[in-house]
Amino acid sequence: DQIKPQPGILDIALYEGGKAHVAGVANVIKLSSNENPFGPSDRAKEAFARTVHSLHRYPVTDHADLRAAIAEVHGLDASRIICGAGSDEIITFLCQAYAGPRDEVLFTEHGFLMYRISALAVGATPVEVPERERTADVDAILAACNRRTRLVFLANPNNPTGTMISGAEIARLAENLPPQALLVLDGAYAEYVEGYDGGAALVDARDNVVMTRTFSKVYGLGGLRIGWGYGPRHVIEVLSRIRGPFNLSTTQLETAEAAVRDQDYVAKCRAENTRMRSWLANALAELGVPSDTSMANFILARFASAEEAEACDAFLQAQGLIVRRVAGYKLPHCLRITIGDEASCRQVAHAVGQFKGVK
Ligand code: PMP
Repeated sequence: DQIKPQPGILDIALYEGGKAHVAGVANVIKLSSNENPFGPSDRAKEAFARTVHSLHRYPVTDHADLRAAIAEVHGLDASRIICGAGSDEIITFLCQAYAGPRDEVLFTEHGFLMYRISALAVGATPVEVPERERTADVDAILAACNRRTRLVFLANPNNPTGTMISGAEIARLAENLPPQALLVLDGAYAEYVEGYDGGAALVDARDNVVMTRTFSKVYGLGGLRIGWGYGPRHVIEVLSRIRGPFNLSTTQLETAEAAVRDQDYVAKCRAENTRMRSWLANALAELGVPSDTSMANFILARFASAEEAEACDAFLQAQGLIVRRVAGYKLPHCLRITIGDEASCRQVAHAVGQFKGVK
């Protein structure tokens, strides 16, 4: 008899990341993980390199400099920021702190897979709420809430759909949650939306809303694993107790600090993403492959059937173009395509055109 893990753990499906290789194809273009095709800013890379001189020292435990930089750039209260190894780790902390056996953790139908993993890992019950036209439905979320609901995760913009709901809708959700439930606004793609604060003002206005953010997307630092959360004082104080002193390395902290201080780079990447996203969405729509209006750094291309999407995926892969079939194939007729640089976008459109038989 094998020693058994805690209940829930064996219900977790192993996470499959975006493919990075195709057998037999030497030069691939990876458009499967919503990464910034331009990588991190030069200032971030320089800061990264400098940390080689202090690797024998333990990192600081309070993350004061990184929190101060984030607070300054976003106009936030530094004492209500917590930093972690990607926003994944902040999601994990939230589940550890607020959910357990018999509790429910809500998220939308096509929500990010980590919500389910983190809920099951603490023995809580994941509850998937239906969306309307691949967009979060506040009424459906509220209808799914009950006395066991502890956390409601909502990515805005959402991955893999790219859709977004309004600030007014989010405020309505926060206002009507049961008193024991916390709303987590996942802003992994917030920087791609010009002028959007990721929900920070709502966090400031209420005591039941937390925002999570990441350096993995527009900052181009997915490989380094840095994210952060912003919340009411009582929540940050709780999460800080379980964070542990050394969850982030000196390299992570100093690179992220330099990255967040380089907002010109963020603005440049956002502008280029917006330009190529609308170009690619239009090009594919003209080929008979529509997508919802995406506010993020990817589009969810819809094919006529799951078979067609699968065939197109294989056709693209044979040319070294790696895109993503998504959300455990709950959208089997869709392919999620990260917005790469201009050349990659043109290659994708060209290949889809060939696939569709358009010369
Ligand atoms: N939230 C959403 C909606 C995401 O798409 C991702 C990355 N795929 C994350 C959170 C986690 O990102 P990271 O842990 O790299 O910060």
